[in-house]
Amino acid sequence: MPADSTTKSAYETFLSAACERLGYSDTIASLLTLAAMEIKVEIPIVRDNGELAIFTGYRVQHQNARGPCKGGLRYHPQVDLDEVRGLASLMTMKTALVNIPLGGGKGGITCDPKALSLRELETLTRKFVKRIHREIGPNSDIMAPDMGSNARVMGWIHSEYSAIYGHSPAAVTGKPVSLGGSAGRETATGDGIGMVIREYARHRNLALDGMTAVIQGFGNVGINTARALQRLGIRVTAISDSRSAVYRAEGIDLDALIQRKRERGSLAEAPEHEEIEPAALLETKCDFAVPAALENAITEKNAGRISARAVVEGANGPLTCEADRMLRERGIDVVPDILANAGGVIVSYFEWIQNLQREVWPVERVESELDRIIGNAAREVFIHAREKGLDMRSAAFDIAVARVKEALDATGF
Ligand code: GLU
Repeated sequence: MPADSTTKSAYETFLSAACERLGYSDTIASLLTLAAMEIKVEIPIVRDNGELAIFTGYRVQHQNARGPCKGGLRYHPQVDLDEVRGLASLMTMKTALVNIPLGGGKGGITCDPKALSLRELETLTRKFVKRIHREIGPNSDIMAPDMGSNARVMGWIHSEYSAIYGHSPAAVTGKPVSLGGSAGRETATGDGIGMVIREYARHRNLALDGMTAVIQGFGNVGINTARALQRLGIRVTAISDSRSAVYRAEGIDLDALIQRKRERGSLAEAPEHEEIEPAALLETKCDFAVPAALENAITEKNAGRISARAVVEGANGPLTCEADRMLRERGIDVVPDILANAGGVIVSYFEWIQNLQREVWPVERVESELDRIIGNAAREVFIHAREKGLDMRSAAFDIAVARVKEALDATGF
């Protein structure tokens, strides 16, 4: 049964509200909340210093009614079963909303990837695959990069899985291009955020040129979102990494910041940029505030100080329920994660198709197909929201939940 309202996660709250609006029973709400399978494994590895260390890994397969489970693998010190569970359910809603034939899953290993050597990271990844290989694969559960993991990690997963089952590139996405990865996968999430913002502007009759954005996060999503927004003529005035934040009224110099980060490991004291408090970043006056880092970046503590026209969820679950409600009441649009950051999983889907069909798509095809799929989803959400008088997240959840329910019904139970 669903958890009671005091312990409900943001996802469960959004989901049960959608089920209520759609007139679904509590049993259906429970079915959509519960994961089909939850895997937890202990992974012992010998560290470079000769000592034995034990890590915990998770994989949650939430739903596969619409297709194999799909979702990233997160490497972060705060990863736990609850977090992975919530993120897996969000993937079910994301794949349903953008209407690709995949379900939802998520995995994670509780570790600090920055504190591990490359050899330790590779050993950890390969051992994790050795533990769970029976449960993953092209027709059951397909992993991909998430926070703290990347194409290199996916390459190790591909190699380990293929050593057991024979060459199986479709078992994992976000691989290096040399191993069957898709052109455009690396930048896909940021590119998709740009496309969704472009559709949002059309919907609200706004000219993008000269608008401003601030971005929290300097990983794959943050950097590629900044690039995509700059291409649209939006001025990105502030950006942050996990420790520092910088501001530049005329727009950040992204290449200079990337170089700075590479050389010094931080954005702090970057020339020609003003250093600001990381906590103040999302409160900077702008048109679009894009949290593209961890969960709970906007809570009831800072939601009252957000002064953007719209919050665009680059990260998964960056708002608490309370923050979501407060922004809604203040008339600030929230473009939800399951729409805004779906570009990554959409291009993962293209990678899976290419691998299954032994095809290689040119980047132009990837980009135009991404634009078509995410553009359609965005328009559908915005129109549904307008027609039903709903906020954008509720509209997105209604569309996604109805789609999963339709598949469940069609499976015959
Ligand atoms: N980790 C990404 C997400 O949260 C991508 C998942 C995928 O490509 O399967 O959407």
